[in-house]
Amino acid sequence: MSSEYRVLIDGELCEASTKETMEVVNPANGKVVGLAPKCGSVEVERAAEAAYKAAPAWAEVSPTDKAALFFKMAELLRKHREEWAKLETMQYGGPIFKTFNFDMTFDAAHFEFMAGVARAMTGKTWMAGPQAMTMTIRQPLGVVGLITPWNFPLVTAISKITPALMMGNTAIVKPASCAPLTVLKLGELAVEAGFPPGVLNILSGPGSSVGEAIVKHPHVAKVNFTGDSETGKRILALASAAVKPVACELGGKNAFIVMPDADMKGTVEGAVWGGFFNSGQNCGASSRYLVHEKVYDEFVEKFVAAAKLLRVGDPLNPETMIGPVAYKGHRDNIERFVARAKQSGAKLLLGGERPNTPETKDGCFVAPTIFGDCDPKSEIMQEEVFGPVVALARFKTAEEAVAIANDSRFGLCASIWTKDIRQGLVMTKQLKVGTVWLNQHLSIVFECPWGGCKESGHSKENSILALDEYSMMKNVWIDLVGTPATPWQGRF
Ligand code: NAD
Repeated sequence: MSSEYRVLIDGELCEASTKETMEVVNPANGKVVGLAPKCGSVEVERAAEAAYKAAPAWAEVSPTDKAALFFKMAELLRKHREEWAKLETMQYGGPIFKTFNFDMTFDAAHFEFMAGVARAMTGKTWMAGPQAMTMTIRQPLGVVGLITPWNFPLVTAISKITPALMMGNTAIVKPASCAPLTVLKLGELAVEAGFPPGVLNILSGPGSSVGEAIVKHPHVAKVNFTGDSETGKRILALASAAVKPVACELGGKNAFIVMPDADMKGTVEGAVWGGFFNSGQNCGASSRYLVHEKVYDEFVEKFVAAAKLLRVGDPLNPETMIGPVAYKGHRDNIERFVARAKQSGAKLLLGGERPNTPETKDGCFVAPTIFGDCDPKSEIMQEEVFGPVVALARFKTAEEAVAIANDSRFGLCASIWTKDIRQGLVMTKQLKVGTVWLNQHLSIVFECPWGGCKESGHSKENSILALDEYSMMKNVWIDLVGTPATPWQGRF
């Protein structure tokens, strides 16, 4: 794999017109991994024109022919699996066990999944009365802008690109500035696979300039965004000027509810996974634990003991569970959250400072951190830290647990740990979130829909439902009796 990174515009791999670049820094050791082109409005204009020009012909490409390109992409991704997993790890710090086993498996399989399910998408027919028949036909939207974050750089981009292109849209993709390299490499594969010029365009550059220019561009019919809730609000506001739809997958502060009858061994394993996988940098991370008072002390003891065993260090070591967080500014922000939680009176049960080992000394590491006895209204229980920092509180009744869980501006997901599935389902109905797991946390597969409510966003990623985000239904009336009859004649 070459260590040069180019953007993709109109089928051409190129530099930014200014030749400016952005350094992508390995958060594990501070070394530069690669230089990404720093695009600006010139590149957005070129990409938007190319995508707009390519849209009508791409919309007419048969689903079978589109699928053939997708299968080629999956094949190429599998071929490069090892080196791509390594690049993903180096650019944002996700441990290699995750990037190799999860990300790279998902990346290739998602192309195949969407190539299959999108071909089964249909419209509908309705009988409007004796004089007419109506049907809906699914149509692409045109050019879509896909703006993605750094915590699953390639996975998130692919989970938007695949439904968008299969539904006949053309796309401009903008990955996060701190980790754009694998998405830029995807552009090389798209050229190799033979995508027509303009169908897929990939631009790296700052969100405030390139991201906003994509959102505002008149050729862009819809924006699909994953990222921080505050950025989502900004994008929604910008798009509203043109009544442009925006699909949003935003932040979360997800409850992990431990009922008194929970199987403690499985619950603790789930708690460690939910809170610390990918250093807690998951929108779906379990970041606030609501634990029944009867089992609180037992849970605390076992959870802290299990979290202590997590290997923190070089993310390229397959044994490592906790790599660095994505970049220095992000670590500083997490440390400020920790300092404020300490001041607020939350009880520090584990971590709370930088790990101090030869492996971690040059990187942006945060030790797994657990706060106990937290006030459910406090910042550490309410705001998304997006790092390996979790907060615990007690509850007395199921009603109280649901009330605390719902007392949040976010509504992404939650888990309930109980042997009483009836009780779990009653609580599931009451929780204001997009996903509930019973006795699991953070299980995400592309067959199932993903997405939240409230300030966590309102759209669906993955599954057959994601395809609805990228098509519009057009209603068509067919006269059955000859003009000038209308179907409501005789009804009023
Ligand atoms: P971010 O909002 O800072 O950036 C996301 C993307 O938006 C980047 O490409 C960035 O360059 C771009 N951007 C920034 N400002 C912009 C603007 N004004 N206009 C247009 N684009 C702009 O988010 P991040 O720090 O990269 O990612 C972490 C956040 O993403 C967390 O809040 C996390 O919960 C959320 N997230 C949500 C989901 C989900 O499915 N709900 C999944 C992953 C991450």
